[in-house]
Amino acid sequence: MLMYGFDIGGTKIEIAIFDSNINILDSWRVPTPTNDYSAFVSTVLEMVKQADEKFSSQGSVGIGLPGVIDRDGRVTTVNIPCLCGKQLLEDLERKLNRKVGIVNDVRAFALSEAITRKNHESETVLGVVLGTGVAAGLCINGTIHLGKSAVAGEIGHSCIHANLQQKYQFPIKQCNCGLSGCYEKYLSGSGLLFVSQHLGFDYADTHEIVTDLNLGNSNAKTVINCYLDCLGQFLAQQVLAFDPDVIILGGGLSNIEYLYQELPNYVEEYLFGDLKSPHILAPSFGDSSGVRGAALAGRIETH
Ligand SMILES: [Zn+2]
Repeated sequence: MLMYGFDIGGTKIEIAIFDSNINILDSWRVPTPTNDYSAFVSTVLEMVKQADEKFSSQGSVGIGLPGVIDRDGRVTTVNIPCLCGKQLLEDLERKLNRKVGIVNDVRAFALSEAITRKNHESETVLGVVLGTGVAAGLCINGTIHLGKSAVAGEIGHSCIHANLQQKYQFPIKQCNCGLSGCYEKYLSGSGLLFVSQHLGFDYADTHEIVTDLNLGNSNAKTVINCYLDCLGQFLAQQVLAFDPDVIILGGGLSNIEYLYQELPNYVEEYLFGDLKSPHILAPSFGDSSGVRGAALAGRIETH
């Protein structure tokens, strides 16, 4: 059976068609209708119809999008305002006359990374996305752990450890989730830039920091080492909570190769006894993880 995966963001909707061995057969994208719910639903339905016709199939449908999707399929997202409070899952299932899987995009990333090319799915995998925001997905034996309120993985909104705040004299930053001191404010892309400014450097963006780091510049190294100290503490807390076999990083900051060399040492600084850091790996599927994970979520829902 074919699988259709949707990666839906604030600017575009991408569909990808996969065969049963998770090989991508085709993909295309259209702009996202962000302010008109019926136009949004029609766009998704039309893309499914096109895929059905093109492949003479009735594929499973899985959707990944940013935001919180509760257990009833109700969506809360800032990127696509027209979806807020809508029963998207129910509406799509009724109109498509088939089961649909809807999953948060970071959980989709984690699922994609947890299910390998050979379809192995035995490990406990924590996928951590370091990008515009910071969030994670925990997959156990190929299944996403969502939790009672479907917020398991929103670890970017846990509070920065007192050790770090004291050590670097960080201000407690207000987060747009309503809480303050969230790790996301220090570990996201803009968090890295904040760390740089806090240490007294005037990098204009994260790209400049990474370029300088690769040139061996000591200022950039100071910034990244502080960032790694915070990330190491953050991941050590996840190790103590979930003890994953492997941590897979995603998002823009996962492209910094230096992270992978140094991070295990920083994690172990914050683990007791002789506990070792799990393997911390770069993503295997890169930019296609969003559609891939969504397609896999749709397959799970259909079976
Ligand atoms: Zn927050």
